Amino acid sequence: MFSQQGADALYVHIPFCPHKCFYCDFNSYVVESEDPVWKYVYALEREMALTVAQHPPAEIRTIFIGGGTPTSLSPAQMEVVFEALHRHVPNRSAQLEMTMEANPGTLDRAKLQAMRAGGVNRISLGAQTFDERLLKEIGRIHSADDVTHSIEIARQEGFENLSIDLMFGLPGQTLAMVREAVERVLAFDLPHISLYGLKIEENTVFHSLYMRNQLVLPDEDTEVEMYRLIIEAMKQRGYEQYEVSNFAKPGFASRHNMAYWQNHAYYGVGAGAHGYMNGWRHVNVKGVQAYIDACAHGLPRLETNEVERKEAEEDFMMVGLRLLAGIRAQDYLAQFGEHWTASFQTIFDELCEKRLLERTASGYRLTDSGLFVGNEVFGRFVGAISDL
Ligand code: SF4
Repeated sequence: MFSQQGADALYVHIPFCPHKCFYCDFNSYVVESEDPVWKYVYALEREMALTVAQHPPAEIRTIFIGGGTPTSLSPAQMEVVFEALHRHVPNRSAQLEMTMEANPGTLDRAKLQAMRAGGVNRISLGAQTFDERLLKEIGRIHSADDVTHSIEIARQEGFENLSIDLMFGLPGQTLAMVREAVERVLAFDLPHISLYGLKIEENTVFHSLYMRNQLVLPDEDTEVEMYRLIIEAMKQRGYEQYEVSNFAKPGFASRHNMAYWQNHAYYGVGAGAHGYMNGWRHVNVKGVQAYIDACAHGLPRLETNEVERKEAEEDFMMVGLRLLAGIRAQDYLAQFGEHWTASFQTIFDELCEKRLLERTASGYRLTDSGLFVGNEVFGRFVGAISDL
């Protein structure tokens, strides 16, 4: 067994969206009435109560309310969630980072005020693109103007710590379109920006179109150029790329996501949520009604698995190397009680030889070339221990 510190990060899943985006395989549902939403927020409260009874939290440093579209909740429904968080997770760091995901087109002043009163101090806004045609083609419900309006009213309501998500590699998207999207997003001068390449996931509209050859995507080389363009533009404007897909002004890296990338423990509540505590991972039941029913009888677990030491060690490498600062020997030592040399040195040497990794004073990190083939690097650690 390896040592794992108590969880100081909490994820809360809100699985409702006004419309299903064509690329989305997240656990999110379009519901026609308010009734299941109310039942859901009360079920969430029950899961929080049961969770903290089983694993009393130490001081919580980050809370992330994600989805789905958390801002599809009404202010009154949000208040139920915030009150439950205050009741069951009262021991909070003075520097608590509390993020709520928001989608343009679902945000208004009443919701922003409820969020602020509930303790939210960071908003992550899903913009994806500013091209009206592309927005429609990927199934988003908002317009480019909605993004601008959401940022304006969020700032007016006192939110400064704002992040925006953009996507690249979208159908029919060109380098010029990516350049324009990046310029638009940089003009907002936000402290944090996430940029994700489109992935075609099973059970999505895009997957069906792709399988029928009806989805025209940029080729691989163009996608690499898009990523390169983004990295350059961000760097020129003073953003640090601290993770493969994430850029921040100094001091604004997402502390919640850092907990995942550093392989720390975290609570996860809500339908389909994942949690990782005391060396065990769980996944909750996914459907809204199934989750509500399960919470009436206990913790709504779909699966609970003890994480073998070997799996945790591999995870440490795969998620840690996503950070551009890389992995540090002392963090590994703290989690596993021994140095990594015996298990992983061969792979480090091989990847350094290929110039995909490089040594740092305290460990290893991706090189500039490694950054463009991150999945190849991370994948090298899957099953690494049994390979040796
Ligand atoms: S808003 Fe996000 S979670 Fe909802 S359908 Fe679109 S991509 Fe999926």
